[in-house]
Amino acid sequence: MPERFDVVIIGAGPGGYVAAIRAAQLGLKAACIESRGSLGGTCLNIGCIPSKALLQSSEKFAEAKQGLAEHGVTVAEVGFNLAAMMERKDKVVTTLTRGVEFLFRKNKVDWLKGKARIAAPGRVVVTGADGIPQDIEAASIIIATGSESTPLPGVHIDEQRIVSSTGALALDHVPKRLVVIGGGYIGLELGSVWRRLGAEVTVVELLDRIVPNLDRELGQALQRTLARSGIDFKLGTKLAGIGEAEGALSVKLDGSDAQKLSADVVLVSVGRRPYTDGLGLEAVGVARDESGRVIVDDGFATNIPGIYAIGDVIRGPMLAHKAEEEGIAVAERLAGQKPQVDCDAIPSVVYTWPEVASVGKTEEELKAAGVSYRTGKFPFTANPRARTNGYTEGFVKILAESETDRLLGVHIIGPDAGTLIAEATLAKEFGASAEDIARTCHAHPTLSEALKEAALAVDARAIHI
Ligand SMILES: Cc1cc2nc3c(=O)[nH]c(=O)nc-3n(C[C@H](O)[C@H](O)[C@H](O)COP(=O)(O)OP(=O)(O)OC[C@H]3O[C@@H](n4cnc5c(N)ncnc54)[C@H](O)[C@@H]3O)c2cc1C
Repeated sequence: MPERFDVVIIGAGPGGYVAAIRAAQLGLKAACIESRGSLGGTCLNIGCIPSKALLQSSEKFAEAKQGLAEHGVTVAEVGFNLAAMMERKDKVVTTLTRGVEFLFRKNKVDWLKGKARIAAPGRVVVTGADGIPQDIEAASIIIATGSESTPLPGVHIDEQRIVSSTGALALDHVPKRLVVIGGGYIGLELGSVWRRLGAEVTVVELLDRIVPNLDRELGQALQRTLARSGIDFKLGTKLAGIGEAEGALSVKLDGSDAQKLSADVVLVSVGRRPYTDGLGLEAVGVARDESGRVIVDDGFATNIPGIYAIGDVIRGPMLAHKAEEEGIAVAERLAGQKPQVDCDAIPSVVYTWPEVASVGKTEEELKAAGVSYRTGKFPFTANPRARTNGYTEGFVKILAESETDRLLGVHIIGPDAGTLIAEATLAKEFGASAEDIARTCHAHPTLSEALKEAALAVDARAIHI
């Protein structure tokens, strides 16, 4: 007899493992199927966590090299051990993936190891390393199979010299010349890591701007700072091909900057695409859109009763915290609750130096939609804590509806922007106005005072500028 569960989740990334834990908390008998040898999905294994570990290590090196003298701290000799950095990164990953295993045991979620295929609504076949298929029955199935790097036609990723983000997280040497194809956040974060460690980095981007979904003003400010750190940008430029010349990679470019670049390593990071290989969606009739994303309604239900989908495999930003929110929401819906995920209150962060963080609409989106808004801006140069810390790059920008003062978008470039955006996200979630932030007492001296000042600036009454 096949084992029977209330809910079976396919994929143990931040969407899937969180859905499984929440379902179990609500008393549902839950199993999570994962084909990778460890839990945590892209995020914990080859995404958010290893990239942030390397960003942190390389930032410490860069600070020790350049950033401590103004504090009167002298360092005799600054160097780094790449193998030790990689070992630390791997240890962080293992600690966190094992942490998810612990949470599964604690909440009595079954981890079924193997590749899942949906045989029919309510029936999943799991094939493990031994190759023996195991039948599972489930009242509900949640697809949380995530995404994979989008390949470029004609470019073979060998993960040694031509790498995806996965290879770029595990290089065993610092490349002398790194060419990054794609100016999205993944390329910029990984480009920053290797630039800080000494690589000459060139970012090639097809569009006329980096991280195109950012508010344009912040994207431009970020590009200026990264250029100052030594990263070269070739915008409006297309990759025409990668060949070999004189023992190096020869990167041929088309467009406004047509030329050839020599590179030791090329990172291809042109986006991610939903991953549904081998799931059997065609046979079961689960509908997908033209980009291959599983189509769901507001309650994450697909067109086939009893089958749901969340995370990178459906519409919306491909972000770990978005997948987590959806994991919680779908589990609660299966338990009879009616939670909603507000797509407009999902923050996004680029973990470069400085960080860039946003929630809500950009100025370009508001203009395109014909919404009347007021802008409040405040620079970190006028924030006392930024001064004491010695990091004064960047600003906070708040967009509020002209008539009602309702918060429409908050955009921060500067120190710790990724943490600061939480306040703005909470405010948006509560439907707050700029005045609500302006009237909230913020501790002094903190970076968060820049948010209050930007909120005051919406009404042209910032104090410290
Ligand atoms: C380099 C990099 C950096 C990133 N940094 C950030 C960041 O800082 N912040 C952020 O929010 N997001 C970041 N992301 C994106 C983030 O990793 C994803 O948005 C997130 O992991 C999506 O979660 P998910 O649960 O939808 O899918 P995933 O995490 O992709 O997990 C899906 C899992 O399903 C498994 N699976 C697939 N098919 C099957 C099958 N048939 N049977 C069994 N198992 C299957 C896969 O093995 C995988 O483990 C980053 C991504 C990358 C690549």
